[in-house]
Amino acid sequence: MGHNTKFIFVTGGVVSSLGKGLASASIGALMESRGLSVTIQKLDPYINVDPGTMNPFQHGEVFVTDDGSETDLDLGHYERFTNANLGKNNNFTTGKIYNSVITKERKGEYLGGTVQVIPHITDEIKNSIMLLAGTVDIALIEIGGTIGDIESLPFLEAIRQLRADLGRENVVYIHLTLVPYIPTAGELKTKPTQHSVKELRSIGIQPDILLCRTDRYLSQDLKKKIGLFCNVSSEAVITAKDVECIYEVPLVYQQEGLDEIISKLLHIWTRSPRLDTWLNVVDKFKNPEKSVNIGIVGKYVDLTESYKSLNEALTHGGFPHSCKVNLIYIDSTTIDESNCAEKLKDADGILVPGGFGSRGIEGKIHAAKYARENKVPYFGICLGMHIAVIEFARNIAGLKGANSFEFDKKTEYPVINLMHEWYDEHKKRIETRDINSDYGGTMRLGAYPCVLEDDSFAKESYNSSDISERHRHRYEFNNDFKDTLVENGLFISGTSPKGDLVEIVELKDHPWFLGCQFHPEFKSKPMKPHPLFTEFIRASIKNSNK
Ligand code: GLN
Repeated sequence: MGHNTKFIFVTGGVVSSLGKGLASASIGALMESRGLSVTIQKLDPYINVDPGTMNPFQHGEVFVTDDGSETDLDLGHYERFTNANLGKNNNFTTGKIYNSVITKERKGEYLGGTVQVIPHITDEIKNSIMLLAGTVDIALIEIGGTIGDIESLPFLEAIRQLRADLGRENVVYIHLTLVPYIPTAGELKTKPTQHSVKELRSIGIQPDILLCRTDRYLSQDLKKKIGLFCNVSSEAVITAKDVECIYEVPLVYQQEGLDEIISKLLHIWTRSPRLDTWLNVVDKFKNPEKSVNIGIVGKYVDLTESYKSLNEALTHGGFPHSCKVNLIYIDSTTIDESNCAEKLKDADGILVPGGFGSRGIEGKIHAAKYARENKVPYFGICLGMHIAVIEFARNIAGLKGANSFEFDKKTEYPVINLMHEWYDEHKKRIETRDINSDYGGTMRLGAYPCVLEDDSFAKESYNSSDISERHRHRYEFNNDFKDTLVENGLFISGTSPKGDLVEIVELKDHPWFLGCQFHPEFKSKPMKPHPLFTEFIRASIKNSNK
C-alpha cells in the first residue's frame, strides 16, 4: 500500500492479433526498467467466467497463476516480461463481472433498484480495476477485443469514466493500431488508424499515445500526419515495428521514446531505463552457437498458441547454453509401434506436454517407451508424467493394460487415478472429485510445495530440496501402486511435504528421464530460465553430440 498508482489503459484497433498482450507486457517491462513497480490486468469481453473450460484450440493456452486462477494466456506474457505477482485480480471477463453483479442482485444488495449495464456493470468493472490501486506505481489494464466490437463497450465506458474519477495526470490511454505497407502503392497507409481512433473518440476516449504496428519505421512526416488526424502529438506516435524476437519489443519501444512520453503524461520522474538484461536476452536469442531439436509429442500440434508458455520455456532453456532450441511438433495420433522410431529420429530430446482427453494417448506411450529404451532425454509434464508412469507400469512392472482412469474406466491397474478426497493441512475436506464433478475449477490448481530426494535429476536441477510449482490437473499418481512401481525401479524423486502426493518420477540408468505432475513452464522467464528446462536442454545437447 501507499503507492499513488497511475493507470495505463491499452486498447486495440483495426484488426485482432496485433499483439496487444505483448505490447502491454513490454510497456510493463519498460516502466519496471525505470525502477517503478508494475502490475498488469486483462479485461476479456467473453462470457465464460474464466478460460478454464475453453478449448485451447480456439483460445490458446490457459495460464495458471500461483493462487490457482485459470487465466488468459496474455498473463503468461505479463509474468515473463515483468516481476508482477499475478493472481485472480489480474483477469476479469464479462462473465465474471456479470456473475458478481447477478449474485449481488439475488442477495438484494441493490435495494430494489433496476440493475443496468450503466452504472451497475460499469461500476463493477471500475471496482475490479481499482482493486489494483495502491499496490504498485503503475497498473496497466489491457482491454481484450478490437474497437468496434459490441462486447467490449462496457469496459470502454468504464475506463472512459475513470479518467474523470482519477484525474488527467493519473491516466494514460494507449491505442495499438496497424499501419500497413501496401506494396502496389509503395506506401504505408494511415487510414485504418484514423478510422480506429475516430471510433474510439466516438465512445469518448481520446488516445494519448498511438502504438503503430508496422513492418518499417514511420518517418517524422508520417508521424506528423497521423498525429494531426488523430489529435495526438507526433512524439506520441510510436513505431511498433515487427521484430524477430519478442523480447526485443521493450527495446524498440524505448528507442521510440515510449517510456519518456508515458512518464511525462503521468508526471512521474524516474531514473533512466536500465535495459542491459533485455539486451542480453536478445543477444542470446539472436546469436546462438549451436542448436538442438526437441520433439514435442502432443495433440494440439498444429496450434502452437496452446503451448505458448511451454514453447517460451524451451527457448529460455537454451539461453544458458547459447543454444537455439528447434521445436519439432509430432502429432501423437499418427504414432504407432512400427513408425515410432522413424517419427522421433530427429529429436535430440522428447517432451510430452500437458493435455486432456484420450485421443493420441497410445502414441505418446510409444514415444515414452522409445525415449526410455533408446536413452533419449525425456521430459513429461503433467499428462506427460502420467504417460511415463503408464508406460513403466505396462512394460517394466508387468501390469498389463495399466492406464489412467481418465482414459480407461475399466482398467485393472489404474496407476493414475482421481484423488477422491482432498484435505487441507487441518484435515478439513476442501474438495471431492469424482467423474460427476463440475468441469470448471475442480482441478488441483495453483502452487503446491514439493520436497525433492537426494541424487535426483530434480534436485540437481533446482539445487534445493524445497520447491513450489503450479498445478492444473484432475488425476494423480495412484499410491496403491507405489510399492510395486518402486520395487520395479521407478524413482519417486519429488512428493508433497507429507509424502502423500507423488509429484516427480524419474528413471535411474538413463541420461535424463523425468516426469512432473506440475507445469514448470508457467514459471520460466527469459532472464531466469526454469532449471528443469535448462537441464533437459543440457541433456538433449549432450545426446545430439553422440
Ligand atoms: N488430463 C490430466 C488430468 O486431468 C492431465 C492434465 C494436464 O496435463 N494438465 O489430470
